Amino acid sequence: MEETRLVLLGPPACGKGTQGRRLAKEYGLGYFSTGKQLRREVEAGTALGQEADKYLSRTEYVPDQLVLAIVSDWVSKQGGGWILDGFPRTVMQAEELDRFPSESIRSLRALLIDVDREVLAQRVSQRCECGYCSWTGTSDDVKETASCPSCGGALIRRRDDEPEAFRKRMDIYEELTLPVIEHYSSSGGLLRISGIGTQGEVSKRVKDALQSHG
Ligand SMILES: [Zn+2]
Repeated sequence: MEETRLVLLGPPACGKGTQGRRLAKEYGLGYFSTGKQLRREVEAGTALGQEADKYLSRTEYVPDQLVLAIVSDWVSKQGGGWILDGFPRTVMQAEELDRFPSESIRSLRALLIDVDREVLAQRVSQRCECGYCSWTGTSDDVKETASCPSCGGALIRRRDDEPEAFRKRMDIYEELTLPVIEHYSSSGGLLRISGIGTQGEVSKRVKDALQSHG
């Protein structure tokens, strides 16, 4: 598994981040979330962050060149296998990734975590995350405490989980990312699983899919 190069595809809130981190931890792979990194750059006030914030603050699609810059920088520093979450989001980005040095994209596969739009809307309305560590979950997970089960920190709702922002993100996904799924499907590199169920159930499907197409 250490040679695994995997891109995670799926609609907003399909569980990509959770599954990506689980998988990376279990197999010792590098994990990169484009969204998280962009938010980090914004908070740090870097030039890239300031540029990205113009789009993020309006829940608009961040231009390919900005995203490509941070992803290619990260990939070039990886010694072993890796997982990308939130990239590629457009066919243009997928084609650029295909052109990365062949060493870094050997055995590239795409895993689609599929969930219906209605289920996602419901899920997002209950979703929360820790403002301090990387824990994410739902209001059901923290019924009693209303604080992070991992570190005890205060829980927040992401700006892009608000209903209007979610609709916009779904529209962008359907317009720009569905063709990316087609890109990997036609090249034979696509694995597809259902994202319905508990984190553990989905995690098992992820591993089964990867192992049976090892
Ligand atoms: Zn926490």
